[in-house]
Amino acid sequence: MTPDDALNLRPDTLAVRAGHTRTPFDEMSEAIFMTQGYVYPTAAEAEAAFAGEIQRYQYSRYANPTVTMFEERLAAIEGAEDCFATATGMAAVFVSLASILKAGDRLVSSRALFGTSIATFDDYFAQWGIIVDYVDGHVNEDWERALATPATAIYCESPTNPMQDVVDIPFVAGLAKAAGALFIVDNVFATPLGQKPLELGADAVVYSATKHIDGQGRVLGGAVLGAKEYVDKVRQMVRTMGATMSPFTAWVLGKSLETLSVRVKAQAASAIDLAAWLEAHPKVAVSRYPLLPSHPQHERAMAQMTMGGTLVTIDIALPEGTDPHGPEAKAAAFRFMDALRVIDISNNLGDAKSIATHPATTTHRKIGPERRAMVGMSDATVRLSIGLEDVEDLRDDLARALDAV
Ligand SMILES: *Cc1c(COP(=O)(O)O)cnc(C)c1O
Repeated sequence: MTPDDALNLRPDTLAVRAGHTRTPFDEMSEAIFMTQGYVYPTAAEAEAAFAGEIQRYQYSRYANPTVTMFEERLAAIEGAEDCFATATGMAAVFVSLASILKAGDRLVSSRALFGTSIATFDDYFAQWGIIVDYVDGHVNEDWERALATPATAIYCESPTNPMQDVVDIPFVAGLAKAAGALFIVDNVFATPLGQKPLELGADAVVYSATKHIDGQGRVLGGAVLGAKEYVDKVRQMVRTMGATMSPFTAWVLGKSLETLSVRVKAQAASAIDLAAWLEAHPKVAVSRYPLLPSHPQHERAMAQMTMGGTLVTIDIALPEGTDPHGPEAKAAAFRFMDALRVIDISNNLGDAKSIATHPATTTHRKIGPERRAMVGMSDATVRLSIGLEDVEDLRDDLARALDAV
């Protein structure tokens, strides 16, 4: 049974207990309702359901009990009034904005974003007559300047993918309120455990559940969380355009939430340990991790994050005079990655299996070298997603691979 709110349960308990509606069979594990639709006892009830006079399941593009269980569990962990699950993280990014923007509206976003989010804004929103303006997300004055002009929506990632810049969420939230704009945070890098954007003043949170929420590389999924009035707009749009989460995916992700905390805490502990070790390594020029004292927004990260995440972004050290955006930089990064024996080369993150990604040639290939340089990304940059392996085996693997550079 879903525990009642009066118990004031903590997030780790809610992750296991919230959002579980048992059927009359009293099953222990959450049921998977693999059904496209639902039957009505009478034609009049079908009519009443479609007229919105009664609330009930009608069609799984609109809602499904297994998907509802996942949504309620994630909302409980996040402390959000409402949650809507989507087919992928990109579907969540898209509808979080498309459901509230129309031609002539203005979107202000941090420049540093997941590559496909940039493509969504530039290749679609901008073509549809939405004005898209980018700012340096970690620079408060830049937000101030941009939000002196009216805006409908504000969007950012924090920490950013892959450079880990930290946006001052309470500061931007204050500007958003004054501008009357809806402020959405993509919280993938921080995870639901490491940062609570809604408590920090944001209006909505977006997740790719493909990342830490699944955390085992099995399914794609996404979610949008916030006030019911806003999430209802998202729900209405997905119900129409169809990027709904499958019940099976919702079941996988709902079970994954039960172990999210133990997984992410263990991964984050290894990540900060390795980030500090990498920083001291002679073959590493920069090691970026929000909770390292050397991080440019370290104090801000300490103030708004309770955990630093599971990603470490490094720049391989290059000989004096090497162009960090040139072929030698790329070759050095590739030598490092190709010499890894435990850590996989892939483009996912947040997985139990550690992963190395070369953003310039994969996730951030499309934006081109100029825009990569603007956010501090070079061809020597490698993003490391730290998994659940023994940290000493990961350290040995990284040491071996750095020797090969
Ligand atoms: C992966 C990712 C997305 C997109 O999610 P998909 O599940 O791949 O569609 C959006 N934002 C960030 C920060 C991501 O890492």
